[in-house]
Amino acid sequence: MDLRLTEAQSKLQKEIRDFLESIKKTGEYPFTNDSLQLVFSPEFSQRLAEKGWIGIAWPKEFGGQGAGYLERCIILEELLKSGAPVGYHYLADRQVGPGIIHFGSDFLKDEFLQKMLNAQVSFCLLFSEPNAGSDLAACETTAVEEGDYFIINGQKTWTSHGHSADYGWGLMRTSFDSGTPRHNAFSEILINMKTPGIIIRPVINMVGLHSFNEVFFDNVKIHKKYLIGEKGNGFRQIMTNLVYERATIDRLIQNYSTKEALFEYVKNTEKNGVPLSKDPLIRDGLARLEVEFQVGRKYIYYVTTLLDDGKIPDYEAAIGKNFCTLFEAKLSDLATNIMGLHGLIMPESPEVLFKGIVAESYLMSPSYTLQGGSVEILKNIISKRGLKLASK
Ligand SMILES: Cc1cc2nc3c(=O)[nH]c(=O)nc-3n(C[C@H](O)[C@H](O)[C@H](O)COP(=O)(O)OP(=O)(O)OC[C@H]3O[C@@H](n4cnc5c(N)ncnc54)[C@H](O)[C@@H]3O)c2cc1C
Repeated sequence: MDLRLTEAQSKLQKEIRDFLESIKKTGEYPFTNDSLQLVFSPEFSQRLAEKGWIGIAWPKEFGGQGAGYLERCIILEELLKSGAPVGYHYLADRQVGPGIIHFGSDFLKDEFLQKMLNAQVSFCLLFSEPNAGSDLAACETTAVEEGDYFIINGQKTWTSHGHSADYGWGLMRTSFDSGTPRHNAFSEILINMKTPGIIIRPVINMVGLHSFNEVFFDNVKIHKKYLIGEKGNGFRQIMTNLVYERATIDRLIQNYSTKEALFEYVKNTEKNGVPLSKDPLIRDGLARLEVEFQVGRKYIYYVTTLLDDGKIPDYEAAIGKNFCTLFEAKLSDLATNIMGLHGLIMPESPEVLFKGIVAESYLMSPSYTLQGGSVEILKNIISKRGLKLASK
């Protein structure tokens, strides 16, 4: 396996770097840590769409560039390193588009794929519920068939961008027969978030920001043409979908500016007249961090090559997400330890350093190892599918 970039890939990398550098200078768009979670800018996403950088890995027959997941990874790495505001198109590009390409009807393909490529439609994921997070098969939201429609009732939670997205990709119970095996009882349905009967309430996170929501369904009527794939196959489909969620570099670099801030702080700060950069314990901590960053980065590039080989790398993606989210948690922990009180100051204070990103990423960090599957659940996948150990 050769992980060196080809000439064309290096050119693409330079092109996106130059583009981001020039667009950042204009000050037109907000660049920040955790931008995929926190910032929603249709205008910025449309600038990327004009370049053909949304859906670059999708096959040409569906409007994509047919380039490959490695090219997507190169683009994404630069976008997230710079903190570009990718929230609007992010889910469409990462998993909703590939999900529709894999499982969607011709109607769904015609209705959505081109709009996604043009950054004209945005999505949220309606999977988790108050009693169904890790155990998605405990999902209780129901979609009951009534003529040409599903009537949906229930509640979802932790819905990122639920308040701003146009459509939600939902997992719903569609079989109520006690004889149906648990995993055959669910279907996936695309839901227009403006449909009457949907109530969205904000959930404010520890940083004090509104990124996720509770979503309630009260007799919400959705036409059956919005069913994704086969009725009863939703659980298996979602597992494929989650591989696309876990196999990406975002889990390593969504708080990359914290790493840059930490290194800058250490290089430019003295304690009792001695530069922090000469402290052996700090040097040791930073070197260990860098080793993990480089290992995580190479591993994600490797998992990406598996996607390009047409594989669904379930346990490999689980290893990657496990390693990378633990790296991210360590990064904010180490930054807070080394920067002491400076690392705890929130953005609104006049004393703040690096716009408060270190304190913010410390507060965000518990979520990294939960979102998209917790480390414990990933370890179960690695044990079962990777190591072939017996199920618990
Ligand atoms: C920032 C963020 C954004 C999110 N965005 C979305 C979104 O857009 N849409 C969406 O649907 N969901 C979203 N989620 C929800 C996320 O998918 C869930 O938090 C996650 O699946 C865990 O579910 P839970 O929170 O209910 O925790 P639980 O499942 O209740 O787990 C609690 C703890 O118990 C452990 N645990 C549970 N089961 C086992 C087991 N079998 N073995 C060992 N340990 C176990 C878990 O590892 C965890 O530490 C988001 C979460 C976060 C933090």
